[in-house]
Amino acid sequence: MAAPRESQSTRSPEPMAAVAASAAGPGTRAPAALALRVVAECGRSKARACELRLPHGTVATPVFMPVGTQGTMKGVTAAQLDSLGCRICLGNTYHLGMRPGPELIQKAGGLHGFMNWNQNLLTDSGGFQMVSLLALSEVTEEGVRFRSPYDGTEILLSPEKSVEIQNALGSDIMMQLDDVVSSTLTGSRVEEAMHRSIRWLDRCISANRRPDQQNLFAIIQGGLDPVLRSKCLEEMTKRDVPGFAIGGLSGGESKEQFWKMVTLSTDQLPREKPRYLMGVGYATDLVVCVALGCDMFDCVFPTRTARFGSALVPTGNLQLKKKQFAKDFQPIDEACTCPTCQRHTRAFLHALLHSNNTAALHHVTTHNIAYQLRLMDAIRTSIMEHRFPDFVRDFMKTMYGDLGRCPSWAVEALESVGIPLN
Ligand SMILES: [Zn+2]
Repeated sequence: MAAPRESQSTRSPEPMAAVAASAAGPGTRAPAALALRVVAECGRSKARACELRLPHGTVATPVFMPVGTQGTMKGVTAAQLDSLGCRICLGNTYHLGMRPGPELIQKAGGLHGFMNWNQNLLTDSGGFQMVSLLALSEVTEEGVRFRSPYDGTEILLSPEKSVEIQNALGSDIMMQLDDVVSSTLTGSRVEEAMHRSIRWLDRCISANRRPDQQNLFAIIQGGLDPVLRSKCLEEMTKRDVPGFAIGGLSGGESKEQFWKMVTLSTDQLPREKPRYLMGVGYATDLVVCVALGCDMFDCVFPTRTARFGSALVPTGNLQLKKKQFAKDFQPIDEACTCPTCQRHTRAFLHALLHSNNTAALHHVTTHNIAYQLRLMDAIRTSIMEHRFPDFVRDFMKTMYGDLGRCPSWAVEALESVGIPLN
């Protein structure tokens, strides 16, 4: 691939709503690093198709963002991801911030240069990883304190430190450090975490040294309590940030609670800014949450499940290790244009999986990423062509065989936005 196209960030703005600049008034700051244009809206639901302009190119939304850990997908190279049509992916701040470390990555031209990835990157704050991976983490007003798993030294990840690392990585979208609590937790700790996340947002905003090139997103917290979540939305939307994430969900709460918090959030988020629903990647969830008004999604699920030989298809998934595929000479999905489906059969992949060949991981991961990207593309096209409700019904019919078998939470969620399934 060519060298990172840094010049893109200096291109003169097109007639899009330059979010940060418009909020502050023209001429008061450097050109915004993000602009969102709503291209089409569903006449019934809250679904919308947008163009999200970022420093490394324009992203068509709704978009699914695959997750890399050590700077690249497991089993897929940056070049392959690019050729699948991926225009934004996630880098993992916790891993990259610890090893090889932000200084080395900065020397390599930021994470884009280090990965040789010319498209957009979103980095997380590192906080979630610490709290979920490390038993020895402690949250105080200062930040998250933890012991390095590499050398045992004590490290404080403060909001300032998180932004400093993300500034060094050079991601197009950075996430604020938030106070993460389990989504099933209730009581005063949830309220404390919500208020602290607002205070930490302000500290992150002040710490961002490259607001003209790197967009800091706020993360809405408040657990499953509608009052707390509304309060958080009210406060955070007063801040001049380029985008908002809906956080603290997809952590074991019921689907019923989940969709209600999502729709409450999108109801209060501004139309002219992107809405990123964190940690969501099941096909049904994506379709429903687009209907509820979300634009961006990420999840490790499609790539993680690939490593167990599970291939995503419109009817659910194929467990390729199963005996029934040993002599099946069809591709994973006839309609899929990915390199795996163009070249290989289920029988071949079945054999690779059973011989523990790492190429199997590559082939299935490639297909699953292609599946997610194609699904989002189909959703977007249907919104643009004003037939999103029909798309949703067709999707559910194919996925569940019969609309009557569609999960009740999805039926309710879709009904709430004017897409009845029955
Ligand atoms: Zn495929």
